[in-house]
Amino acid sequence: MLHTSHIELSRSALATNLHYLREVAGPSVRYSFVVKANAYGHGIEEVVPLAEAEGIDHFSVFSVQEARRVCAVKQPTTEVTIMGWVDDDWLEWAVAEGVSFFVFSSERLAAALAAARAVSRPARLHLELETGMHRTGFCPEDLGHLAEVLTNHPDELVAEGLCTHLAGAESVANHERVTAQIDRFRQTCAALRQRGVVPRYRHVACSAGLLRYPDSVFDMVRIGIASYGFWPSAELRAATLMADHREDPLLRVLSWKSELMSSNPVAEGEYVSYGTSYMTNRPSRIATVPVGYGYGFSRTLSNRGHVLVDGKRVPVVGTVNMNMAVVDVTDVGDARVGDEVVLIGDQGGRRITVSSFSDMNNSLNYELLARLPGHIPRRVVD
Ligand SMILES: *Cc1c(COP(=O)(O)O)cnc(C)c1O
Repeated sequence: MLHTSHIELSRSALATNLHYLREVAGPSVRYSFVVKANAYGHGIEEVVPLAEAEGIDHFSVFSVQEARRVCAVKQPTTEVTIMGWVDDDWLEWAVAEGVSFFVFSSERLAAALAAARAVSRPARLHLELETGMHRTGFCPEDLGHLAEVLTNHPDELVAEGLCTHLAGAESVANHERVTAQIDRFRQTCAALRQRGVVPRYRHVACSAGLLRYPDSVFDMVRIGIASYGFWPSAELRAATLMADHREDPLLRVLSWKSELMSSNPVAEGEYVSYGTSYMTNRPSRIATVPVGYGYGFSRTLSNRGHVLVDGKRVPVVGTVNMNMAVVDVTDVGDARVGDEVVLIGDQGGRRITVSSFSDMNNSLNYELLARLPGHIPRRVVD
């Protein structure tokens, strides 16, 4: 094996998730699959065709670079939206390709108009409205100008979407803030409609919105983490499943595997790996896995994470190195060099979920996935 680990993507898990989530969204709602940050670490080039095979024909990314990667592998009729940053140098490219993009200020609106004129094609805009997150979006005082520019340039500017993003729908603590956002969005859309702005899609819901706030589902949803089989938060998972008394409908798409690189006996009372953070309490068998923080296996997993070897959950001991993690395989009867090591995923009826990497807060779910290096080979399995 050329690389020291590989990632497996389950076609059937992805199909299950998409089927379930589209059913929740309803038949008339467009499903935009969010594939920013290299498809949450899964791999854009692999995920896009897999999702298309399940009927997905809309993808959302953050950057032009990601949009270009989607465009290189997608079907001709599949649509792409850039939710984040388009440098002025790339606006003409986006317009010429028919790639739609978020516009959240009057300056970008003017730049989009100029780009549409330059390439003689309409720019397809998602007009992002400020509803309470206070990050990006048109403020109430901008709306008059926005409506005027749009209605004055119907051939150059297309209102593909009116949208906003919820400020933490995965936590009940934010309930009032989120419901106020949805109300404000609805009112602003109505006000813009009166001024002649009628978008193709209104869209608000991310995964947590779709799963917990039915009112946030308008004409389109932008679904990232749940598509890959992860709940936006443990709290939301518990609340949803307990309310409905049912099994988890989401399946993890990604597994991450490597193999044992060495295995040595170590006497009781010896330090393991760099420094003095771990000492053996018994005669031990200590093995190495050729995946360290330089390869996406976070240093925060030092003395905290677990991996699976021979169907057993074994601890990471000592500090995670740049290239290696050290694990205690004393309880694995016969651990040998070359044995499969599961860093994320299932083996022998046991499972390492991303969140059980250690006692981490949920946002690290997203972060650990997004940090999986792009160079690790991806394989599609059933
Ligand atoms: C990332 C993102 C989403 C998707 O969020 P998930 O919680 O992963 O579903 C939706 N909308 C915007 C604007 C985003 O940046």
